[in-house]
Amino acid sequence: MEVKASELDTMERLGEGAAGTVRKVLHRPTNRIMAKKSISTDPDPAVQRQILRELAFLRTCNSPHIVSFYGAFLDDGDTTVSLCMEFCEAGSLEDIYKRASLLGGVIGEPFLARIAESVCKGLVYLHSKRVIHRDIKPSNILVTRSGEIKLCDFGVSGELINSVAQTFTGTQYYMAPERIQGNAYQVQSDIWSLGLTLIEVSQNCPALPPPGQPHLSIFELLDFIVRQPVPVIEGAHISEECRNFVAVCLTKDPQYRPGPNRMLEHPFIALWENVEMDLGSWVKEVWGWD
Ligand code: ADP
Ligand code: MG
Repeated sequence: MEVKASELDTMERLGEGAAGTVRKVLHRPTNRIMAKKSISTDPDPAVQRQILRELAFLRTCNSPHIVSFYGAFLDDGDTTVSLCMEFCEAGSLEDIYKRASLLGGVIGEPFLARIAESVCKGLVYLHSKRVIHRDIKPSNILVTRSGEIKLCDFGVSGELINSVAQTFTGTQYYMAPERIQGNAYQVQSDIWSLGLTLIEVSQNCPALPPPGQPHLSIFELLDFIVRQPVPVIEGAHISEECRNFVAVCLTKDPQYRPGPNRMLEHPFIALWENVEMDLGSWVKEVWGWD
């Protein structure tokens, strides 16, 4: 399938990030609802062609733990690259925990276990294709109507990363210590970000910056991460297995931090693996759907 800009009817805006805008669209030829992400890029046609070539890799991704990709094209008078992906009706984990927080609840440990398992399986899949995610955080973990948990916005296009980096003002709070120090990205760097994500989702609030220090520069943040104890997951409802899983994710030295394959063998995953969970009903409850 080849998606063209002229075949899409724009519906509502789903969200806005540092890099672009996401809108709900209808693809008329297939009558399918999609999410279209539009990113302003370098206006150089050679750069844009390169980005589109690199994004074509997304077509080869096929996993229940990865958001499906439908196509990419130049948009808005060729100033923008748009990519169309699976519409995940329940939104991101950030949308969900904020909603749960409004309702006065928290996301319980069984769901944290499913999130951890799905993210690790998604990372294992990406790793098998020699891709490192690079941007694991609650807003890049999406949930479908039936409660499937999927990864999006991973770094497949070096050109797109460069192009966006020039204007990037987004948050670096999820970056592993080795990344902040400018060292090479490794698959373990994504596991660090998963640890921070689990804390954030469980407490309805980001783990970093630390409470009381809301505006850290990148240098102060690095200093904090290197010198201070890492954040921990807290709460009476949190098991020792869960606490330890997060602590292992937040191992400061990447040499001793496991990758996603080994994290899937952690007792926290085993603890909840065979427990029936209806994530579809949970999502319905959170959003008040019938
Ligand atoms: P960020 O990830 O930094 O929030 P994005 O531009 O990637 O910025 O996404 C903005 C928001 O759009 C997300 O937080 C999410 O609520 C929504 N969104 C992104 N992709 C999808 C999708 N495929 N389906 C449904 N909602 C999406
Ligand atoms: Mg995103």
